[in-house]
Amino acid sequence: MKIIKVLFLFLFHIPWLLYSQEISLDRVEPPSWWTGFKHPELQLMVHGKNIGTTTVALNYPGLTVRKVHKVANPNYLFVDLTLAPSMRPGKASLRFSSGGKEVASYTYEFRPREKGSAQRPSFSSHDVIYLVTPDRFANGDKTNDNIPGMAESANRSNKDGRHGGDLKGLTDHLDYIQDLGATALWVNPLLENDQARYSYHGYSTTDYYRIDPRFGSNADYLKLSDEVHRRGMKLIMDMIFNHCGSGHWWMKDLPTPDWINQWPTFTRTNYRASTFTDPYASQSDSNLFVRGWFDSTMPDLNQANPFLSNYLIQNSIWWIEWAGLDGIRQDTHPYPFKEMMAAWGKRLLEEYPNFNIVGECWLNYPASVAYWQKDKCNKDGYNSWLPSVFDFPLYDALNMAFREKEAWNNGIIRLYDILAQDFNYPDPNHIVTFADNHDVNRYLDMQDYDVRHLKMAMAFLLTTRGIPQVYYGTEILLTQGADKEGDGNKRRDFPGGWPGDSRNAFTPEGRLPAEADMFNYLRTLMHWRDAHEVIHTGKTRHFIPADGVYVYFRYNEKETVMVVLNNNETEKSIPTARYNEFLKKFTSGTDVISGSVINDLSTLTVPGKGVLVVELK
Ligand code: CA
Repeated sequence: MKIIKVLFLFLFHIPWLLYSQEISLDRVEPPSWWTGFKHPELQLMVHGKNIGTTTVALNYPGLTVRKVHKVANPNYLFVDLTLAPSMRPGKASLRFSSGGKEVASYTYEFRPREKGSAQRPSFSSHDVIYLVTPDRFANGDKTNDNIPGMAESANRSNKDGRHGGDLKGLTDHLDYIQDLGATALWVNPLLENDQARYSYHGYSTTDYYRIDPRFGSNADYLKLSDEVHRRGMKLIMDMIFNHCGSGHWWMKDLPTPDWINQWPTFTRTNYRASTFTDPYASQSDSNLFVRGWFDSTMPDLNQANPFLSNYLIQNSIWWIEWAGLDGIRQDTHPYPFKEMMAAWGKRLLEEYPNFNIVGECWLNYPASVAYWQKDKCNKDGYNSWLPSVFDFPLYDALNMAFREKEAWNNGIIRLYDILAQDFNYPDPNHIVTFADNHDVNRYLDMQDYDVRHLKMAMAFLLTTRGIPQVYYGTEILLTQGADKEGDGNKRRDFPGGWPGDSRNAFTPEGRLPAEADMFNYLRTLMHWRDAHEVIHTGKTRHFIPADGVYVYFRYNEKETVMVVLNNNETEKSIPTARYNEFLKKFTSGTDVISGSVINDLSTLTVPGKGVLVVELK
């Protein structure tokens, strides 16, 4: 009987023993790091079959394992390392052992930081940002349009499908972007999105350390960065912390049940970012906003989990250092746990004091948006550590300003009213202004295709305070087309970006006359702006719009610029005595757009739905 019992126990345990010895290592993230950061800690996420049952050892001068965390899932280990200030760059061997035997190893590389890395300059009001949806800009490599094994193939006839644009296409057209006058480039997300549908937009990350191979490789991203920097331009990476894609590798094997916010059935966020600042918000509304999913294919990450929080913070630092980034655009900024987002911003600014991050805080009132700008004195004591925000209230106003006929004082008062609320912002000159982007209807489509409105909007954005952002194709009058519906049409292909396109609007010969006119208008203003510090950092003074005419001045000790927006259908002759507090010092001016000289400032003539930008002399 005893023998049978022993035999039974032996036989019962053999499969388990064999199983328990099945240990593998399939990834360590971050995959590499640098010496010389202010913060000496690094936390590795190690994933592999039963890797959580192993012990970790290393032998490298100045590098120590501070703590090893085992979590609910035995396929993970979180390893806390400390880097001594004296630690030299090099390769450390991480050894994973079980029962006294080494079962896996990983060569971990610590590189030296590039000289001046911490003091890198970032994007600011000196810049004009050009926003590109990479799948829709230019297809420079047809061989990567379809990658075997990936869930979605290219199909240019599907407005919501992948069209094949890539990093090669974008890099090949940097001269075009530079010639237009943009100095910074924000590219919609490029990280792997191995999703069955809508993978082209990039907002469903499935690997935080890998460029989607249909856009190119990590090395191709580095090449883009190098080519951007060679032109003296800046690169802004689009990041998403709120959610990942349902096809993310960890969704099949979560480290902990609370890695994502889980619900019994799919539960969508209410998209009400105001619940954060609303003093009367119900707990259930606030909870749903933060923990609800952005979409059924976008699991909501739980940034309150400290391992995930570290993971995301280190991921940002890895990309900044690895690709030499000049800025970050953070998607759906208010949706994650705001304490973690503040910790993220603080850490980045401690490592890179001049770094700029712009958060998508999509709220409609200046007070609501201003809550999110770093150093805002908020009633609840919250400091976001987010240097910049998008000016959604000004975007709303700009949409209405030139087409609203019935409003008191001709709609243009909306622009004045929004700027009049700049007292809300800690730094109103450090927020990003725009007329449209990849998420909203194109400006021209919203204006009944009235190009005069588009010119007024662009002239306003390029002369008012803030950091202007221009959406790709604006310069050649790209529209959503007859079928306006759906996000895919907001992101139509740039004509000429694909081999075989009937014309190439990247070249002057390929532009229709109206497109050439808009391109030249924008190019003139953007290059002029680039050379005029008074627009970058000058003060602003504006006058209450009267008779549909809005006048403002940008000035510093050296220069004064006068801008006149005429929102009437007809030409206006404007007596200027009202503006004497600025004009009395000047006798003439130059019309920046036409280049002509104005010798009499007593009356200015502005065409209907037109703009005058005058450098005063
Ligand atoms: Ca391609």
